[in-house]
Amino acid sequence: MSAALDIRDFERVVFFTGAGMSAESGVPTYRGKGGIWKSYDYQNCACQEAFERDPEYVWEFHNYRRGLVSKCAPNLGHQLITRCQQQLPSVRVVTQNIDGLHQAAGSVDVLELHGSLWRVHCEACGWSEEDHAAPVLALRCPACGDAYKRPGIVWFGDPLNEAVIREVADALAACDLLVSIGTSAVVYPAAQMPLIAKRGGATLVEINPEDTPISHAYDHHLRTTATEGLAALCAGLDP
Ligand code: NAD
Ligand code: ZN
Repeated sequence: MSAALDIRDFERVVFFTGAGMSAESGVPTYRGKGGIWKSYDYQNCACQEAFERDPEYVWEFHNYRRGLVSKCAPNLGHQLITRCQQQLPSVRVVTQNIDGLHQAAGSVDVLELHGSLWRVHCEACGWSEEDHAAPVLALRCPACGDAYKRPGIVWFGDPLNEAVIREVADALAACDLLVSIGTSAVVYPAAQMPLIAKRGGATLVEINPEDTPISHAYDHHLRTTATEGLAALCAGLDP
């Protein structure tokens, strides 16, 4: 990294985060060491077909994830992003994570590309709510009483929410600094989204201990963890 890179030099910042953002909080990533898909097969627990076939098993998996995440707290990286939002003119947070840790750290207006572990809804009647229980024990919709509640997550094969995509694209097109953190850039369409910022002329920074398929598009690489990379980038902020 060039020593001169300082978050305060930018006016419209977008943080674009993936599972590596929460790794230091103890939330397992999907890929790499301890990846969650090694112990569960997503075809049985994280797609619409599985939910229609066996909703109780899908809920068992999501309750397992709720249990894991509910023991985790935001890390210094989440806190530094919140500090940026408080001290800089315009900071947006776009995340692929479903863990809610940006909000738990106090970040606002977080754009969640893949939904949230903490929202549930009913596909039959439209009921929805935020529910932080771990585990969720009442699995049937309280409004219609019949259908199973559905976790508010974008599963494999689901389309992304169009309103969210539009807002993300607008934020990326308008930013002058894009900071990607802990995303493997292999899950589409999120993987290519940082390139919208590049086309808009923004400076691109990648924080990830490893190379990714779109590392070449970035101007700066911080080959370190989320907390250390953000600490370096945000060193000039007020404590
Ligand atoms: P991924 O699991 O595919 O990749 C994780 C990336 O993070 C890798 O590139 C790895 O090198 C990097 N990484 C690991 N430790 C890191 C650290 N300490 N600091 C910075 N980077 C680190 O994750 P993805 O690209 O986000 O894609 C997987 C999909 O699954 C996304 O939708 C993702 O958000 C979701 N997911 C979410 C959670 C969560 O909500 N916390 C956890 C697992 C997966
Ligand atoms: Zn219902």
